Amino acid sequence: MFKKVHFRLTLMCGGITTLILVIMTLGYLYISEKNLKDTQLLSFRNNMNTVTANLEQQSVITHEWLSKLEDNGKYMIFLMDNDIPFLFNSRSTHADVEELYTAAFAYYRNSFSIEMTAPSLYHSIHTEFIFSSASKEEYYASVITLEKGKNILQMLVLSPLTPVKEQLFNQRLLFLGIISFVLIILWILSYAFTKILLRPIEENRKNQIQFVASASHELRTPLAVILSCLESFKQAPENKKETFLNIIESESRRMSTLVDDMLDLSRSDNHSFSIEKESVELDTLLLNSYEAFEPMAKEKNLTLSIYLPEAALPLCICDRNRIRQVTAILLHNAVSYTPAGGTVSLSLHLKKKHFFITVIDTGIGIPDDEKEKIFHRFYRSEKSRSAKGHFGLGLCIASEIVKAHNGTIEVIDTPGGGSTFKVRLPVL
Ligand code: ADP
Repeated sequence: MFKKVHFRLTLMCGGITTLILVIMTLGYLYISEKNLKDTQLLSFRNNMNTVTANLEQQSVITHEWLSKLEDNGKYMIFLMDNDIPFLFNSRSTHADVEELYTAAFAYYRNSFSIEMTAPSLYHSIHTEFIFSSASKEEYYASVITLEKGKNILQMLVLSPLTPVKEQLFNQRLLFLGIISFVLIILWILSYAFTKILLRPIEENRKNQIQFVASASHELRTPLAVILSCLESFKQAPENKKETFLNIIESESRRMSTLVDDMLDLSRSDNHSFSIEKESVELDTLLLNSYEAFEPMAKEKNLTLSIYLPEAALPLCICDRNRIRQVTAILLHNAVSYTPAGGTVSLSLHLKKKHFFITVIDTGIGIPDDEKEKIFHRFYRSEKSRSAKGHFGLGLCIASEIVKAHNGTIEVIDTPGGGSTFKVRLPVL
């Protein structure tokens, strides 16, 4: 499924960027080609200005001057005297040069509707245009009209567009090369980036699947016990029935706790984890937690102690019930994973605008390679798998609660053996 999404995302990102890039390149090419053509026409026009000025100054137009002009500008020149053709370009390679000149003149007359009269306001006039021949060859063309004595002299100058077209073709080839290279890089990057983008979603999905699998597995055990107890209950004599009822009750409570934990985590995933902040006296809260776990510690033959600062503490702005839940999780674990005769202590102190709640035990300890994993969902270390009423969700919930209070939770080894959990909460 993710492969399909990845493929589609790559296609979408790559497609959109390719489209934008192609439009931009075509736009740029269009503008630059237009500019090139305009510049060439302008330069041709400037040259024609000079030619016209030269023509005006000369009383006699020599063959030599015309040949030089043709060679220098790579022009094709044709002269008309009083509308009578009188000199063709001698070096033209065009198959039917006369037809070409006639067509160019006809085009000039049709397009600019100019009569064969002497330029009235000016001594001479010249007009530049782009002319396309019958064989689809394009030329910059200029018709210079000037008065020579009593005659009207017209000179047609043609300059083939082929060199400009070659330049444009080369430019297009260059752009095609560059754009192809850029597009290959772009598609590779699109593929890589969408993969990176999808990785957290893929991981999240894997976690969800793992979560459901673990939850089902955890629920299956108490359910199986309940079902088998019900079967036995039906056949048991009256005096034995209560035993089965007690087991059913305790397993149902276990299931209820697990479902509550799972609900908490799913709320945290949905960001609908409710945190109702209020001013809380943390020392009182810790004292209550201590008192709640005293009987359990006594039952396990553990020494449970509490250390609170003597000086008055500022109020902590937090969710009373959630922080109580955190201390309960830590104390429950400490008492559960500390063998008889051990000690568990709960303490609170204030340092640099932070409250520190610490739970220290002298229990079985947590290996270094598991210190991070124990905060993952349903993670239980091998040593503690047999502990009843533990599903591997407590520390994960505690960490979500602490995070929601902008605090941190960490675990270190207790010197001499055991584990020390430290919760840091900001003083707001
Ligand atoms: P559980 O409900 O199984 O205790 P937790 O998320 O609270 O789930 O803890 C995860 C695992 O971390 C436990 O199964 C246990 O292996 C380990 N652990 C937690 N607290 C302690 C502790 N005080 N001492 C030793 N191991 C602990």
